[in-house]
Amino acid sequence: MFGALIGKNMSARNQDEFYADNYRDFAFLLMRPKREGEMSRDLFDKNLALKKLLDDFLPILAGEEALASETIIDALEMGTMALLGNPAHKNLKPILVGQPARIKINANIGTSPLSNCVETERKKIDAARDAGADTIMDLSIAGDLDAIREEMLNLWHLPLGTVPMYAVGQKLLDNGREIADMKADELFAEIEKHAAQGVDFVTVHCGLSRRGAELAVRDNREMGIVSRGGSMLARWMLENDRENPLLEEFDRLLEICRPYNVTLSLGDGLRPGAGADAGDAAQWEEVINLGLLARRALEFGVQSMIEGPGHVRLDQVKTQIQGIKRLTHGAPLYVLGPLCCDSAPGYDHIAGAIGGATGVQAGVDFLCYLTPAEHLTLPDAADVFQGVMASRVAAHCGEVALGRPGAIAREKAMNEGRKKLDWHAMEKAALDPATLAKRREPHNKEEVCAMCGKFCAVKMLQDK
Ligand code: SF4
Repeated sequence: MFGALIGKNMSARNQDEFYADNYRDFAFLLMRPKREGEMSRDLFDKNLALKKLLDDFLPILAGEEALASETIIDALEMGTMALLGNPAHKNLKPILVGQPARIKINANIGTSPLSNCVETERKKIDAARDAGADTIMDLSIAGDLDAIREEMLNLWHLPLGTVPMYAVGQKLLDNGREIADMKADELFAEIEKHAAQGVDFVTVHCGLSRRGAELAVRDNREMGIVSRGGSMLARWMLENDRENPLLEEFDRLLEICRPYNVTLSLGDGLRPGAGADAGDAAQWEEVINLGLLARRALEFGVQSMIEGPGHVRLDQVKTQIQGIKRLTHGAPLYVLGPLCCDSAPGYDHIAGAIGGATGVQAGVDFLCYLTPAEHLTLPDAADVFQGVMASRVAAHCGEVALGRPGAIAREKAMNEGRKKLDWHAMEKAALDPATLAKRREPHNKEEVCAMCGKFCAVKMLQDK
């Protein structure tokens, strides 16, 4: 079947047959992906919560992003941009994710069974805000998860995401049950609860099929499945010999999310957890599913983003990003890293920033931070700050390389300040003004800095 299609320009008819042959278990996926000119312009009629949000915030968003309102509306209708915001989230300030909006940064916070302190989580929220994160995700897996989520929603007025599967897993394990005992109804009920509380986006591993899980487990991966939610669902499928309920009952998920404009962050449960695993059959099988699901969601009036890798060697970052974007029809791409080496624990925020900057150049829209604590322990507030800053530097490097006007203007402002030894101008242009001021503090009465002192190269030729 695959061989017969190589080199041929697939007609609508044989494309339908292709999907019918390869996805016969999922009748709802048997539609031909629409192309740009065929998009129906009724997203806002279907999703009234999104329409209301846009009515309230479009002028502000257009000003912040320096984009025409029509550009934003077109991109939302095409599904290449998403407006993250659930009207049930009090005092919400929604944000846009997707080309050509500014690259956004997410900070993961939340409790774990070995480090469970709500006060620490409050400090992490402050650190994320101080460092300039655009969103946070509550990944808590210990304590009273409903109360923690409620408090985070009260403290954080930009979009907040969750992984509802974690709460389901916690309840099962706390009650002496196995992950395999989960009922699909429990998972859908948890997602509905998060939506009603005001959660703006949810990670849901809908594209993880039983076939994909089997490929990942049996295919000699160096690291198997490293996604927490993905590993739980894979275990459930393999133990019960059943298909993923989020895939089988995808429309039920859409029915829950649409009234709240909850954006689906279509999770990459089979993302590579080692550079050597990147680009294998399991990963791409899931990406193909995610592309089909993103189309289905848009048809239904629900926004989605695609989650991406993961551990990817630097030489493969660009092709990975371009391939995922191609197969998911340009949907906003939200990546964890990519981490371009596996052996830098303690410095994974740097490895992630290198991959992130390369990814942004190739089309990534949204960077999930990594912190110095990645692979080692739960991050503290200082780690959160470092992680967000590393991702912001990565995003900025990528945007400079892309020639984005806002990023180029910042570079110009910094260089003008440097040339005049105008420390105030440099502070204004810096990604982290507070750190600039702190490092300069011992010598801030001097015109030059302590790097060269009277040998200052800038001053040497200033009067010439
Ligand atoms: S002292 Fe050296 S590092 Fe500092 S501003 Fe002058 S040239 Fe730059």
